[in-house]
Amino acid sequence: MEDLEKIRDEINSVDQRIIEALAARRKLAEQIIRTKSELGTPLRDELREEQVLEHLISMGRGVGLDAHLVTRVFHEIIDDSIRSQQLHLLDYDKSGIKRVVFLGIEGAYSQLAGQKFFAPFIDQTVFVGSDTMEGIVDAVENEEADYGILPVENTTAGSINEVYDLLSCAQLSIVGEEVLRIELSLLALDDIPISSIRRICAHPQALTECMKFVSKLPNCQTLTCPDSAMAVKKVRDEGDPSTAAIAGEDAGRLYGLKVLRRNIEDQQNNFTRFLVLAKKPATIDLRIPCKTSLIMATPHEEGSLLKALALLHQYRINLSKLESRPIPGMPFQYLFYLDFEGNIADPTVSEALEKLRSATTSLKVLGCYPMQHRARTAPKVEILAGGMPESDPATSEPGEKKKEKVSYRLASRMHRADDTIISVRGVRIGGPGFVVIAGPCAVESREQIHKCARYVREHGGQLLRGGCFKPRTSPYSFQGLGFEGLEMLAEAGREYDLPIVTEVLSPADVEPVSRYADVLQIGARNMQNFSLLNEAGRSNRPILLKRGMMSTMEEFLNAAEYILAHGNHQVILCERGIRTFETATRNTLDLGSIPILRSLTHLPIVVDPSHAAGRRELVVPLALAAHAVGPHGLIIEIHPEPEEALSDGPQALHFPQFAELMRRLYQS
Ligand code: PEP
Ligand code: MN
Repeated sequence: MEDLEKIRDEINSVDQRIIEALAARRKLAEQIIRTKSELGTPLRDELREEQVLEHLISMGRGVGLDAHLVTRVFHEIIDDSIRSQQLHLLDYDKSGIKRVVFLGIEGAYSQLAGQKFFAPFIDQTVFVGSDTMEGIVDAVENEEADYGILPVENTTAGSINEVYDLLSCAQLSIVGEEVLRIELSLLALDDIPISSIRRICAHPQALTECMKFVSKLPNCQTLTCPDSAMAVKKVRDEGDPSTAAIAGEDAGRLYGLKVLRRNIEDQQNNFTRFLVLAKKPATIDLRIPCKTSLIMATPHEEGSLLKALALLHQYRINLSKLESRPIPGMPFQYLFYLDFEGNIADPTVSEALEKLRSATTSLKVLGCYPMQHRARTAPKVEILAGGMPESDPATSEPGEKKKEKVSYRLASRMHRADDTIISVRGVRIGGPGFVVIAGPCAVESREQIHKCARYVREHGGQLLRGGCFKPRTSPYSFQGLGFEGLEMLAEAGREYDLPIVTEVLSPADVEPVSRYADVLQIGARNMQNFSLLNEAGRSNRPILLKRGMMSTMEEFLNAAEYILAHGNHQVILCERGIRTFETATRNTLDLGSIPILRSLTHLPIVVDPSHAAGRRELVVPLALAAHAVGPHGLIIEIHPEPEEALSDGPQALHFPQFAELMRRLYQS
């Protein structure tokens, strides 16, 4: 007991040192910005950030900290430093108390967004809730508040139309944006079974985001509330144990409710974007990456929208959002809301805007503000894998273009000469890159998949694999954990920032699995399951298509063609060994197929040496051989305890073998 107290005291003093160090670092960052302002140097120095991160990772490793932890902490610190540097450069009035009006009551997401946005000045900020969106606009227009916070769009439920309609009339400017990840929980007074809930209170947007979950609850009414925190407060005030609220866990805690179920939103990656409004427009230093929002109407004639947008293209301006809204009182005529990357203080942007004015019937600039989405410095794979590559594996030639007639079209190089590059949450597969996908054959437990994810991340793997629906030869073998496993896989992927790959067995799996998975795998046994291929073709997720055990190149590419022909152009081919007379290996890895496929198709190709070999001692040599023939990546099975694995244990690499493979791949 005494020991525990002593250790806790020590932890407290370490925490105190961390806080003091963070405060000291923030002060230094502010000094830097003053110096940078005098010298006019850019706000961010990516090269320096990269060097600092690499140095910290190696320092961390020296004292037993994982690169992922160091990277995450560093990202938060850099983010804070950019945030305060930006607020310093903005011409916001920094003196005196700022009054910020948000939508809802204490604990609302709009307040959390405001707290995040004004974090560096939080001790000078007073938050006031408002019941309505009009109330917020009025308060800022009448100078009862300095800033207003409004949610404007959600990545699952879409745009909040009311905000757009208000913005078109308001005498306000957008001076900032903030993005929050929205994780919704079902909250109630007592920890009771979900089946006993008879009524749910929620904001309409939150209800839309959890539609699938709510529709499955029997005999349950819904009641909408102006914001999520109000829904929570209502449940507490009414005191009825059979009423629940949908809101964030923090709001639940604030009002003393219990969590009945976490993460009930339909889409795992659920974000809401908020706007910060002020009476006067902000002038943003040219060194801060900016967004500009505007509303415009184009003449009601053929090609007018196209002409307006072409102007932005002509000035190399990147459009980040385009939305149309009906013009009140003018049936079937529309206003367009645009967000683009650029600062109106930049002469090129202002020239483009002038041209745009003459191509439109009305144009109103809603504001120019710092972009919230910032690219984060990532450690190079070579650093994580423990060495620098001397040669680029992907510089190999795509080879001769075949002129002869083939039965597939969209998959062929004749249809598309350049390599297709598929971007999976920022990881690019295809073209000049090389990626490693790794993880267990099957997800077996939360602990197992977390261990794998952590190891993959630490050693430079870029995607996490894990089967949840397993196509086993014997019906008596482990069939996978299904959706329970998928939740574990998604959680591990989120925790370690790794996109996830998992297999789908039937057409009915495609839609529900894509709510979690970044890439859907179609296994060798299903390569010619045409109804599955068709459904995959209707999905918007990239498909990792494995070569069937007895398939020719032509059959393989035709299977891909099914997916492409149904509209999904994101197919990754996977060579995983074919069945031959040879039984010394599980399958025969057909490495000749790689240069052949590279010449026949533009699609990315990865090699799976694990299923080809069937024995772990062969996986590393086959992986290295595969790397030499020019695929775009590898997919490797690993397991924390391969001897205990529930499927494909004999071919799973022990963790240190995977580390060794990564070192050799990136050192060769
Ligand atoms: C797998 O990746 O775990 C798998 C079942 O692969 P294949 O379809 O290549 O046998
Ligand atoms: Mn397997």
